[in-house]
Amino acid sequence: MSTSWGDESSRGLNQPRKGGGTVEVRLCGEADGRSVYDARSDRLTIGVSPMTDQAVLEASAAVGATTPQYDAIVIGAGVAGIYQIKTLTDLGVKAIVLEGAHDLGGTWYGNRYPGARFDSESYTYGYSFSKELLDEWHWKERFSGQPENLRYLNYVADKFDLRRHMRFNCRVERMRFDEADHLWVLTLANGEELTARFVVAAMGLLSIPTPPKIDGADTFRGQAFHTFDWPHEPVELVGKRVGVIGTGATGIQVIAEIADQVGELKVFQRRPNWSAPLNNGPISDVEMADIRARYDEIFATCARSPGGFEHEPDRRGFYNVSREERLRLWDDLYDTPGFAIWLRNFVEIFVDEEANAEFSEYIADRIRRRVHDPEVAEKLIPRDHGFGVQRVPMETHYFEVYNRDNVELVDLSETPIERITPAGIQTIDREYELDVIVFATGFDAITGAYDRIDIRGVGGLTLRDKWQDGPQTHLGMLVHDFPNMVMVAGPQSGSASTNYPRGIESGVGWLTGLLEYAWEHGHTRIEATAESEADWTEHVEQMYSKVLMRKAKSWFTGYNSNVEGHGEGTTRYLVYNGGAPKYVRTIAEVANNGYEGIDFATNVAGVESSELE
Ligand SMILES: Cc1cc2nc3c(=O)[nH]c(=O)nc-3n(C[C@H](O)[C@H](O)[C@H](O)COP(=O)(O)OP(=O)(O)OC[C@H]3O[C@@H](n4cnc5c(N)ncnc54)[C@H](O)[C@@H]3O)c2cc1C
Repeated sequence: MSTSWGDESSRGLNQPRKGGGTVEVRLCGEADGRSVYDARSDRLTIGVSPMTDQAVLEASAAVGATTPQYDAIVIGAGVAGIYQIKTLTDLGVKAIVLEGAHDLGGTWYGNRYPGARFDSESYTYGYSFSKELLDEWHWKERFSGQPENLRYLNYVADKFDLRRHMRFNCRVERMRFDEADHLWVLTLANGEELTARFVVAAMGLLSIPTPPKIDGADTFRGQAFHTFDWPHEPVELVGKRVGVIGTGATGIQVIAEIADQVGELKVFQRRPNWSAPLNNGPISDVEMADIRARYDEIFATCARSPGGFEHEPDRRGFYNVSREERLRLWDDLYDTPGFAIWLRNFVEIFVDEEANAEFSEYIADRIRRRVHDPEVAEKLIPRDHGFGVQRVPMETHYFEVYNRDNVELVDLSETPIERITPAGIQTIDREYELDVIVFATGFDAITGAYDRIDIRGVGGLTLRDKWQDGPQTHLGMLVHDFPNMVMVAGPQSGSASTNYPRGIESGVGWLTGLLEYAWEHGHTRIEATAESEADWTEHVEQMYSKVLMRKAKSWFTGYNSNVEGHGEGTTRYLVYNGGAPKYVRTIAEVANNGYEGIDFATNVAGVESSELE
């Protein structure tokens, strides 16, 4: 298949490797006679793995004083971990995924709340690496829901026989870098220890839910859960009195979905979010055939666009067109599916206060037109930030919910919650009696999963301490003093602010190239230099200074009042704002320049030699 990532000559990018011939042996001792599918050649090999160069196999077996159990351990079996294990096992190295949950899927394994679905067009969210996969999978909806998304990820894992490289219920609790032997020692929740030369962190940016800090939560007599932990068995909502705390991306989805099922719905809102119609719809057989025929074109557009979506900004210039023209564009975008309203808009919306204010007022008017009670409408309009400077939740009939008799908006800025009681929620004003409380209160975003593991690098330094005031990384993928740990979609990487899988595919491709390079050269240690890390971190910080997003109290700036130390006045530079094309170009250049900014060292049979590449 043709790739969608442009320059195929760029080393390490979306080209797992060259010269993947078939050989008879399998380094990791897992030759089991099963059929293996090679996506690069769209070829099925019976009984033996589609292996890589013998050189890589031998190099990956290069021993330090102690040979680790694994060449690489991947933590997390979400979109990132699934693709990462595929590329590693395609290389023929000994690799495994450790997943804390009972099964694969990550975001789409959790988040079973009603209404959970993509804001990305389904067909731009799916993997692009296999033409056969693209040809086989039929997305049923333009913005597909959680059950189908989970089915898709299972389909991918089964098709490429990846499950056998995954262990579930394996939460990694501690990681210690062994400086003498150049390997990581990982300790699981059950006390088991595993060693690996390299660790690939694929723990997700929204994988640690944060319940609100409200007294009395354990006294509630009814059912209460975070949207991420929505029970796997059906929850009876019909006729029930339900309270939802939070009106961010998940709150907006769940509220709209359950309003007409429940008896009463109380929405507890601290701060409103800007939101606009998702404009979802089914994908017919004919449409899917058309999408399949255009996949190369679609992924090429995604690769070109700053957000990794099909949506490209309007570059005419906000002030170069008349107000009437601006309104025409906005009317059109309001009815266009997905993030068009955000990402096909004028670039000035992101950087210019006046332009942003004019557009925000346009959306405010739309809200006023949709909500019958003017007082309620005003409460649903954000005053503390403009449209698009936080991640924009997309909605389906969300605002109309507030026209229903069984729905009440409780404005917590006027009447804050005092506590959760056995019967419901007590605000300073009154007690709301409830059967079910849903915490739609989001995640300890981007760095949360890293903070939950006791990660100790060189000299026993903990990553938690190093990142106390915010992450510092090289390219969002490596960290100085934490050698041999690489991050697929880490903080400050290009993936965190874009259509995720597009970023994940470039991250996985690049990292696989880096590891392959190390194995080919017999290197047992990879580490970002202090200088390259300082430069990248400063660059990421500078990018924030250009965008209005820097002012928002959102997870893009590391704000979360439910996480200690992440409250107001503690801006954390978590995402790369330069856009996907620039990010991909940058990491390709780094690779093409011999992985500049990264130190490599070799430790074979106890004899250590360092070289700076
Ligand atoms: C409701 C919702 C909707 C979303 N919609 C979109 C969308 O439309 N478009 C988009 O681009 N993105 C969306 N996202 C972001 C989404 O998280 C990414 O698209 C993508 O799924 C992330 O994949 P991942 O593999 O990086 O992480 P995850 O899917 O989060 O997977 C990480 C895995 O790591 C595991 N893990 C974490 N810590 C440990 C540990 N210590 N030990 C072992 N395992 C561990 C977790 O259990 C999890 O399974 C959405 C997120 C949410 C919550």
